[in-house]
Amino acid sequence: MDHGEFEGVIGLEVHAQLLTDTKIFCGCSTKFGGEPNSHTCPTCMGLPGALPVLNKKVVDFAVKLGLALHCDINRRSIFARKNYYYPDLPKGYQISQYEEPICTDGYLDIYLDGNKKRIRVKRVHMEEDAGKLVHEGTIESSSYSLVDYNRSSVPLLEIVSEPDIETPGEAVLYLKMLRDVLLYLEICDGNMEEGSFRCDANVSVRKKGVSDLGTRTELKNLNSFRFIERSLAYEMERQIGVIVGGGEVVQETRLFNAEEGATYSMRGKEEAHDYRYFPEPDLLPLTVDDQWVDRIRQSLPELPMEKMDRFMTEHGLPKYDVEILASDKELADYFEETIGLFPEPKTVSNWIMTELLRELKSGNVSPKRSPLSPANLAELLVLIKDGTISIKIGKEIFPELFRSSVSPKSLVEKKGLLQISDESAIVATIDRVIDRFPKEVADFRGGKEKLLGFFVGQVMKETKGKANPKLLNELLARRLKG
Ligand code: ADP
Ligand code: MG
Ligand code: ZN
Repeated sequence: MDHGEFEGVIGLEVHAQLLTDTKIFCGCSTKFGGEPNSHTCPTCMGLPGALPVLNKKVVDFAVKLGLALHCDINRRSIFARKNYYYPDLPKGYQISQYEEPICTDGYLDIYLDGNKKRIRVKRVHMEEDAGKLVHEGTIESSSYSLVDYNRSSVPLLEIVSEPDIETPGEAVLYLKMLRDVLLYLEICDGNMEEGSFRCDANVSVRKKGVSDLGTRTELKNLNSFRFIERSLAYEMERQIGVIVGGGEVVQETRLFNAEEGATYSMRGKEEAHDYRYFPEPDLLPLTVDDQWVDRIRQSLPELPMEKMDRFMTEHGLPKYDVEILASDKELADYFEETIGLFPEPKTVSNWIMTELLRELKSGNVSPKRSPLSPANLAELLVLIKDGTISIKIGKEIFPELFRSSVSPKSLVEKKGLLQISDESAIVATIDRVIDRFPKEVADFRGGKEKLLGFFVGQVMKETKGKANPKLLNELLARRLKG
């Protein structure tokens, strides 16, 4: 049997930490990185008698994401207790949603090899995060752990996909698009290192043509796109190997070891948790009415996929460009502001994708904080278009324009970079060059037309790259031939 006979089936569970100022059931701050246990109160410490009060903003954000993912927004949903014991969970249960979540049955489209593919979203529900354990010392040296409850009860949305994803690469495309949607909605900062966007991946394999799903394993807490891709690829190969070898895949939770590039069993089904869910008695069923949903619907921004489609139809840009431009809302805004002033979308897109992105990346600045404003980029492009400077000079001064935020016009004047478009000045230089290279001139006239480039180079050298290239080519050809 060869491995090509198999296909992968992947379903993803994403946890997105919400950008609310306060926690989901109390007024404590959600700020990352405070003094341990300084953002706590009786409610998020789980002290007896403390009662949860639902943060309305969390519901706003859940509805927002639900609408963006084309879900049904359930007018009534229920909070439930998910019971298990762990030191970072002071109540002995996590408040989550189970049988009746707020959003169900949506989808997210991604671009796959130039075509749209729809990944169905099973549910989006609200829940609280757990605290954090800090392990000190080693097992040998009488180790101990400290617990920090600052993260306890920070609001999360869990987004569960249907098993519609077929390859590790596709999983990453889905996750990137979902992250972009969250960023566009401004409800999550998407920071994977700090854990504000994290993913558990369920994966199984089956023979092509078979419709039943295979037994799946779950990969936990993958905190980078690269790890997700690598661990899924490893796990699919491992499962295929088990089946080809005559064995059976065991349903279990596995952890990815990045150094070894392999996954390891963490717990099997036998030890799987029975969470004994039941409705949270301290919270009423949540009802949202049509007005609430409509109000949120009206506040929705244009989403990444809509923006990509519009950039293609309205501005005639290729898909390659729009995927880059729309992957970051600030960059898309920067682009649109610039074409408002210099209405040549493809030219603007080229400059943004090459020169601007290079500078933004190397300086680690966001488009919104770019020292080179859209107005200044447009001004630069006008200078090039009207022949004041050459493209070459434009690219040369770009890094300085970016760093100094001076106007392109004044920099060009200050540095004396004005393109020479004065015929007589160019002709004078051409004559000098021709005098200096009689042999090359003779060769050219004898048929070695390729030498034109050599003469262009010589004139450019003399004018320090400032001769108008179009004019120079014309004048030079005329002069050499005649
Ligand atoms: P549970 O309730 O056990 O967590 P769910 O039905 O909620 O299971 O599924 C969890 C995730 O696993 C979903 O993203 C789903 O798409 C995915 N999934 C379910 N079955 C399979 C399978 N056989 N192969 C791959 N993914 C699966
Ligand atoms: Mg689940
Ligand atoms: Zn609190």
